[in-house]
Amino acid sequence: MLTVETYANMAEAAGAVGDRARYLGGGTLVMQGVNYGDQSFDRVVRCREVDRDIRSESGGIRIGAGATMADILASHEVEFLHQVARRIGGPAIRNMATVGGNLFAQNPYGDLTTALLALDAQVLRIGSGPEPIESFLSGRSRPRGLVEAVVVPRVSSGEFRFAKVSRVKPKGASTLCLAVWLRGGGRPSDPRIAWGNMGPTPLRAKAAERALNGASLDEAGIAPVLAVATDGLDPQDDALASAWYRREVAAVHLKRLLLRQGVR
Ligand SMILES: Cc1cc2nc3c(=O)[nH]c(=O)nc-3n(C[C@H](O)[C@H](O)[C@H](O)COP(=O)(O)OP(=O)(O)OC[C@H]3O[C@@H](n4cnc5c(N)ncnc54)[C@H](O)[C@@H]3O)c2cc1C
Repeated sequence: MLTVETYANMAEAAGAVGDRARYLGGGTLVMQGVNYGDQSFDRVVRCREVDRDIRSESGGIRIGAGATMADILASHEVEFLHQVARRIGGPAIRNMATVGGNLFAQNPYGDLTTALLALDAQVLRIGSGPEPIESFLSGRSRPRGLVEAVVVPRVSSGEFRFAKVSRVKPKGASTLCLAVWLRGGGRPSDPRIAWGNMGPTPLRAKAAERALNGASLDEAGIAPVLAVATDGLDPQDDALASAWYRREVAAVHLKRLLLRQGVR
């Protein structure tokens, strides 16, 4: 039997989640589990008041965990994330899918989380301080309470780019996706490159980031970046593609994104 518990707010809900419980964000994945008879939980915890605000603060832009992909698309504060949110599911999914839920979405999902990783976002959990998203993702398999918000930097200098590779357009899941944050004008300074579906969670390509630091964004300049594009990544075989295929095509997509060739 499945019970549904409703709490007034996230703080109360955080006290109630535990063994055999799932917090319900937008429910696009939780309810799929319910419908498919997932036996790993028998309590669904939800709350009436969710934080779906997107607002500028001194440390960056705070996005409430309850903000949906449609909320992101309606916000001017995070215009640089529109290119990501509009590639997630179809309109019905975008109206329900939350930022908080995306942080926990397993492959082949987690497109927004890949973007947040490239942006060095901070994850705020109820009752604890900000945690860099990279460390949050490495500990994701251990349940550690509810996420109330993420904080992203303002992408005022430099450029943020995202590409999603999928077999079924426009709504298919990612075969892989990648996000690049090119800080500074001209040659990138301390850039970030993050891949989705190239490991158990979204991963940064640190060797490629080092090679891109200070490089010119042309064929010759990015050749050393492409040579190490998949170093440190750990793609898996699944129904969408083999690990071999993902490794083969990754550098091609990184090249297109860096040189802005035919990317959508
Ligand atoms: C048809 C379809 C298409 C999809 N297409 C895409 C796609 O293109 N790209 C993509 O990235 N994803 C896609 N998804 C996956 C999913 O919709 C998104 O990843 C979405 O953002 C998940 O958010 P949610 O609020 O619906 O999560 P839920 O289903 O509510 O929750 C998912 C998990 O996250 C946990 N959780 C949710 N919120 C919090 C929180 N605040 N704190 C702690 N834990 C929390 C839940 O307990 C649960 O374990 C698709 C799903 C479907 C069904």
